[in-house]
Amino acid sequence: MTVTTERDALEAARSAFRLELLDAGLLIATSSPGVYGRSATFERILTGLDAVLTDMAAPLNATAVRFPPVYPRADFERTDYIASFPDLSGVVSSFEAGDREHRELLGARERGEAWDGWLSPADVVLTNAICHPLYATLEGVLPADDQVFDVFGYGFRHEPSLDPMRLQSFRMHEFVYVGTPQGAQEYRDTWLDVAQATLASLGLPITAVAANDPFFGRAGRMLVSAQLRENLKIELTVPIYGDLHEGTAIASANCQREHLTAAFGIRTPDGEVAHASCVAFGMERTTLALLRTHGLDVATWPAEVRGLLGL
Ligand code: ATP
Ligand code: ZN
Repeated sequence: MTVTTERDALEAARSAFRLELLDAGLLIATSSPGVYGRSATFERILTGLDAVLTDMAAPLNATAVRFPPVYPRADFERTDYIASFPDLSGVVSSFEAGDREHRELLGARERGEAWDGWLSPADVVLTNAICHPLYATLEGVLPADDQVFDVFGYGFRHEPSLDPMRLQSFRMHEFVYVGTPQGAQEYRDTWLDVAQATLASLGLPITAVAANDPFFGRAGRMLVSAQLRENLKIELTVPIYGDLHEGTAIASANCQREHLTAAFGIRTPDGEVAHASCVAFGMERTTLALLRTHGLDVATWPAEVRGLLGL
């Protein structure tokens, strides 16, 4: 196949999978690509998966924390997200002016014109990576040499797509280590293996591959090559579209080093900048990978997998 026909075939396979999910009622379409409702069955699978992940992580004695899907713009400013991923970000705006501006807004709306010009930035942004609000709360000296956190929640990425594996709003479950440089590296390597084994136990054909974040633009290309060279990010992928695609990442294990801990002023008790690493699971992607692998009718899934997921 030529490159173009191969790409067309992949797009067709993505659309077909999307339609199958919509027809089965597992996802509910909205007018925005990558924004879906989920059915009760979809949520049951996702909840079962989450219980498996929580069991997997029991030996970590992680501190569980939950944050809402927005966090302070001031904290967002301390990350380099808007510099590295301007295209993926989502900032919240609202109306803060008076009656005159309100009338102008209403007039524009009446005429079918854009009314966004009357809005101004709110003091929150949409959370892109659910570990960011956590880091913002850890500023200062950690109470111990290291600590592990369990974070779960919705993240937003502005990447509209007809591939059901690429959503604009989706849940992540992350197990985040904050502590010493050596501890961060060891944690990443150990928990990458545990994560891979756990996902494989659900019958998913997992491959671990070196990966990079989708840094934007020309400056971003240098960050990509550094990330790959230093083997900082490893993704666990599952084939969703056969030979048309090399596989979709359902989880990743990352060494952040002091990237975010320096930005938020997080130190170990000896006064050094802490290092961080994490294992992150894409909850919708893993649920969809299970549906793709075992079929859209949960009743026909292997008994062992249903048992593990409590289905
Ligand atoms: P990709 O390269 O596939 O876009 P990513 O590198 O942006 O993934 P991470 O930032 O590592 O992904 O996010 C952690 C996990 O969240 C991913 O392994 C994946 O399972 C999930 N994820 C990331 N982006 C999306 C998305 N747009 N829709 C659904 N799940 C996603
Ligand atoms: Zn992404």
